[in-house]
Amino acid sequence: MTLAARKRCVAGGVALLICLANLSTVVNWLEKIGIVAWSQHLCDRYLTGTAITVIAALLILLPSGAVVAIYAKRCRVCDALLLRRGKYCGECGSRV
Ligand SMILES: [Zn+2]
Repeated sequence: MTLAARKRCVAGGVALLICLANLSTVVNWLEKIGIVAWSQHLCDRYLTGTAITVIAALLILLPSGAVVAIYAKRCRVCDALLLRRGKYCGECGSRV
């Protein structure tokens, strides 16, 4: 373990202790201004089991933007959109 890693561990431990020590203050403040009741209402009304299942399925099934960005290239010769991996352009046949 390097010195930088040890410093990060100590700083993270101190930050965690500070957050845990002030957690009740933050929770009481959120309760006082009504955020807790509002979020409980939204959770009861809109986050049903079906909604959570659909959201989880969409998060698993839909590709992320990074994956789309990796596969979506443009040909340098004809500027065609290349959605699949390959060495040659499907439109003009030039090497990508
Ligand atoms: Zn091309």
